[in-house]
Amino acid sequence: MKIHEYQAKELFRQYGVPVPNGGPAFSVDEAVKLTDSLGGYPVVVKAQIHAGGRGKGGGVKLAKSREEAEQYANQILGMTLVTKQTGPEGKLVKRLLVEAGCDIKKELYLSVLPDRSTAKICIMASEAGGMNIEEVAAETPEKIIKVFVDPLNGIQGYHMLQAAYGLNLPKAAIKPFTKMLAGLYKMCVEKDCSLVEINPLVLTGDDDIIAIDAKINFDDNAMFRHPEIQELRDMDEEDPLEIEASKFDLNYINLDGNVGNMVNGAGLAMATMDLIKQAGADPANFLDVGGSASADQVENGFRIILSDTKVKAILINIFGGILRCDRLAEGVVQAATKIGLKVPIVIRMEGTNVEKGRQILAESGFNLVTAVDLKDAAKKITELVA
Ligand code: GDP
Ligand code: MN
Repeated sequence: MKIHEYQAKELFRQYGVPVPNGGPAFSVDEAVKLTDSLGGYPVVVKAQIHAGGRGKGGGVKLAKSREEAEQYANQILGMTLVTKQTGPEGKLVKRLLVEAGCDIKKELYLSVLPDRSTAKICIMASEAGGMNIEEVAAETPEKIIKVFVDPLNGIQGYHMLQAAYGLNLPKAAIKPFTKMLAGLYKMCVEKDCSLVEINPLVLTGDDDIIAIDAKINFDDNAMFRHPEIQELRDMDEEDPLEIEASKFDLNYINLDGNVGNMVNGAGLAMATMDLIKQAGADPANFLDVGGSASADQVENGFRIILSDTKVKAILINIFGGILRCDRLAEGVVQAATKIGLKVPIVIRMEGTNVEKGRQILAESGFNLVTAVDLKDAAKKITELVA
């Protein structure tokens, strides 16, 4: 799960990570009132969307007066912001962050995240922070340092000093930096973050440290123990089809291709996507109906795939175990009857009650292509979308 920058900064405050004064605004009026309350200029007006690259896309503006602040708030609120991370369709801006500008001497990069391969918490830092960090990572990876913390022992002084020296911080900034990093680490662990990223972390003119950007992702599997984080969820930022799918306990992820996929089991879904790719087509989604789906769940999954206009054909690949093939077939027919079939469907199924399932499909009157095995299914679906 992702949250907005202003929400992340509120969490930062709770953990003693310094951020500029400011807060969210949902209208131009609110933005101007906030500006007045900050008591000075410049003021930064920032688009709040769940995507980075806002600076380069025109979603971050520095206002030197009340008039400018109002003008920028007007301009950014309601704009469709296109950044490297939003895709070409962009994202409608419905919230702003208005905060005090700060005196930037140097822009640094800092992130904290669990690293699966070492089973440690990784602190990543670079003195070449700011809007071009992706190029730094690609061209001069030696400018990014990593410090690994064993979560059982927790963060120690030497970890923090290693990061501070890696950032080439002036002496006066080391203390504020280590205090900030200790808070950030604690937050990452306590809130089950899968990523905490500050870019840029700013070294100010008087050698203080302040986070002027804030990105936090949370581990979805841990959200049950953080109702306070769940409250921060902004449905406007999430894929409407993914929200719809979660209502029926379906694992659904929207992708870029045009082959809709209905599969039972995440492993089988991955294998199916690989085969579709190998056959030369691209999956439009990943839909795992689970091992014990009901006919209703199958119907809802099917409805969700069909409502995606990218989908030019659907591949159903089921290994019938607890989810019997006849129940799957009933769900498919139920959905097709209610919604109507606008695209061709290839079905491959094996396992419990497969004969009964095939019979239901054959007698349904719908044009359903059956495949003998997985390879055959991938080949047939690729021909259909070609
Ligand atoms: P992102 O592009 O989505 O990552 O948005 P950021 O919050 O990182 O802002 C982009 C850039 O705007 C930063 O790298 C800074 O250079 C600049 N910026 C943000 N806040 C301030 C500020 O308070 N003062 C100044 N001078 N520049 C700022
Ligand atoms: Mn940034």
